Order: sequence, then structure tokens, then C-alpha cells
Amino acid sequence: MIRTQNIQKSYVIGEERVKVLHGVDLEIQPGEMVALTGSSGSGKSTLMNILGCLDKPDEGAYFLAGEDVAQLSEDELAVIRNQRIGFVFQTFNLLPRMSALENVGLPLMYAGETNPQAKAREALTTVGLASRVDHEPNQLSGGQRQRVAIARAIINNPAIILADEPTGNLDSQTGLEVMDLFTELNRQGRTIIIVTHEPEIAAYCHRQIKMKDGRLLEDNRLLENVQPAGNGPL
Ligand code: ADP
Ligand code: MG
Repeated sequence: MIRTQNIQKSYVIGEERVKVLHGVDLEIQPGEMVALTGSSGSGKSTLMNILGCLDKPDEGAYFLAGEDVAQLSEDELAVIRNQRIGFVFQTFNLLPRMSALENVGLPLMYAGETNPQAKAREALTTVGLASRVDHEPNQLSGGQRQRVAIARAIINNPAIILADEPTGNLDSQTGLEVMDLFTELNRQGRTIIIVTHEPEIAAYCHRQIKMKDGRLLEDNRLLENVQPAGNGPL
């Protein structure tokens, strides 16, 4: 599903070039649920942005479902971000003056659908928010907001979900509930990568990868016999 070869990335800050990823080789199979851990500044978000086709590596190759991402045009990348990948962020990134239903329907609008309500309602039902469709984000709790964001992430039935510290702004009980939801989405066959600092959150994942200073330091599979679900959307 995901394969990177020697990915390198640096940022220029003022006069200085700071290298953030020093050659990342990573392979993730369809249906895996992976935790990406490591201290702040180790390059987790930078790597996630590259995996999500939001950013490009300076060097190295990235193959997504067999396709060489470097060969794709901006338009093709936009379609991949819209159709194949669902993003979930620590701060939810919902639009404040829009209802839950409207927020969830946005990726469908971008994909050209004029009538996203029915699917948006279905996605909100999947995340347990059928009774909150008309609420705006500020009328919802943190956990409910993150559920709305997850509904938005799955509305186009993506094969991959990338979540960057999705429980970072939630209390621990709510965080675990959100992880139950990710677990269910993984059971449906979706490949999921979750950045987290919290061991209880990482423990939900079959595989834990630890980064340090822009490199993969550890890669542990927790259970021997986990079968990738393999019957997912891609
Ligand atoms: P993590 O998510 O593991 O905390 P990041 O990938 O966000 O780490 O950041 C890794 C390093 O890259 C940090 O030192 C950070 O300051 C730097 N960095 C990240 N994004 C940018 C950017 N857009 N411009 C300049 N430096 C950046
Ligand atoms: Mg980060």
C-alpha cells in the first residue's frame, strides 16, 4: 500500500537548511494499523505529510498503491488526497460556521457531488453522531468534533487514514473511544497510520514504529498472527 525508499527532507529556515528526514525506508501493507511514535521534532508530521501527498520529499521515492507519486501531476495528487486518503488532525480542522453535516460533506463537494447530504448523514451515523448532524463545531464536545472529522475523513471511502495526534486534544477516556472507532475502520480493511505520544493509544496498533531525529529507530509488530484485512476499498 505504502512504500518509501530513502526519503529525505529538509527545510530552509532563514539562511539555514535543516535536515528533518534522513532516509526513511518504510513499507506498510494494506489493512495494517500502525502507530508512529517518537519525541517532538523527530519528523513524524513531516513524514505523514509526505505519505499523505501534502508534501514532497527532496530525495527518495514514494510508491502509493504501486504508483510513483513523483510522477503524478498536481491534479492527480489532489484526486488521490480526496479519494484515497482520509486525514484526521489533532485540532480537528472543522469549519466553524458550518454544521457537522456540511463539514462532513465538503470532500464530496470538492469531488463535484452536488448533493452530499445522504452520504454525509451516513458517515455521521457510522461515527455515532446521527443525532448531531445540525450542530456546529462549537456546540459539540472535543470527542464529538473529532468524530465529525473522522466522518469527513471516511466520506469518500478512502483506503488509507492518516491521523496526526488525533487524541492529543482529548481526555484519555474520549481518546480511547476515538481509538475504538479507528479500530473498527481498520477492521473494515482500511490501512491506518496514527501519530501519537501516548503508549495506551499506540497499544491499539498491531505495529509500532518509533522515529528519532528523522530516522526510523524501531519497528515492532505486536502480534504474530494479525492478518491484514485485505478486502478493503482498494
Ligand atoms: P514531529 O511531528 O515529530 O514533532 P515535525 O515533522 O513536525 O516533527 O518537525 C520536524 C522538524 O522539522 C522540527 O525541527 C521542525 O521545527 C521542523 N519543521 C517542520 N515543519 C517545518 C516547516 N514547514 N518549516 C521549517 N521547519 C519545519
Ligand atoms: Mg507533529
